[in-house]
Amino acid sequence: MRRGVAAALAAIAACVMFAPALDAYLKLGTTINGRVLSLHWTQLPIRYFVTDRSVAEVTSQQLQQTIATAFSTWAAVPGVSLSSQFAGFTQVGPLDNNNLTVLGFENRPQLDRVLGSTSFTVDVITGDIVESDIFFNSAFAWSAAAGGETGRFDIGSIALHEIGHLHGMGHSALGETQLIAGGRRVIAKEAVMFPIAFAAGTVADRTLRADDIAGIEDIYGTSAFRQSSGSIGGHVTKNGSGVQGAHVIAFNPKTGKLVAGFTLSADGAFTIAALDPGFYVVRVEPLDDADVTSFFPGSFNVDLSFQPAFYDKVVVVPRGGTASGVELKVVPK
Ligand SMILES: [Zn+2]
Repeated sequence: MRRGVAAALAAIAACVMFAPALDAYLKLGTTINGRVLSLHWTQLPIRYFVTDRSVAEVTSQQLQQTIATAFSTWAAVPGVSLSSQFAGFTQVGPLDNNNLTVLGFENRPQLDRVLGSTSFTVDVITGDIVESDIFFNSAFAWSAAAGGETGRFDIGSIALHEIGHLHGMGHSALGETQLIAGGRRVIAKEAVMFPIAFAAGTVADRTLRADDIAGIEDIYGTSAFRQSSGSIGGHVTKNGSGVQGAHVIAFNPKTGKLVAGFTLSADGAFTIAALDPGFYVVRVEPLDDADVTSFFPGSFNVDLSFQPAFYDKVVVVPRGGTASGVELKVVPK
């Protein structure tokens, strides 16, 4: 039974694996022999180790408690089937080669824009994640204080984001940033899975938003959940041709929830899943061109040259079904 297992595993890093042709939300995937596999865990609970390494103001015990809280926050989303188990402290670092899922601090001062990152080993036949490691960059100043701490990044917020990746989630584009000297500043964001962190000192990303919740439900939703939620499907076209990489946003005016997806194929098709049944306003916009590589690999052709547009009708999402035929026609910029 074990024969061939090693050959069927691929090690991949989070930053190069936002695959085209996946439904809804941006999920992590990888293309093997022309087939797109969506990454997910099937062996539950997810067993993880924590590196026994403390940094200033965050002990390894505090890190472990923070990580346990972040796993619980994702698992507590209504309608999902997820669980995890702390397997113990280890001397092994998250970037060391091994067959264990390890989360911990590692000092990488040369990665001066990376607070943390997630990597995977995946079964290339099934897309099952067999191992995932998260490193938190101890070159930054961290805090585990309940209310955050000025000048220090909140380990709880960054852990929640990275553990979203660990579950197979990609980045959300629901946010706005401003270019400033030395990087980007977040003006607003509506998802923990937005690729850029809030400034040091805030704890805002300890709380999942509607888009994060829809994303985890899309991957791990139970059949009962799928029967009680719905989706929107359609195409984005320009002069009769599909637009690839367009950001499509569904807004529910009754609940105020924003959930978004992308067109992931050359015909401009999109699906936004895990939606509450009800009325939606649908809008399409190009990705912010400065951030394209945060969402898609360089080989993925993203069309940025069109004007934002609203769908001209209110979309009614049915319970357990799809509001299909949402055809968004955009004009060149
Ligand atoms: Zn990320």
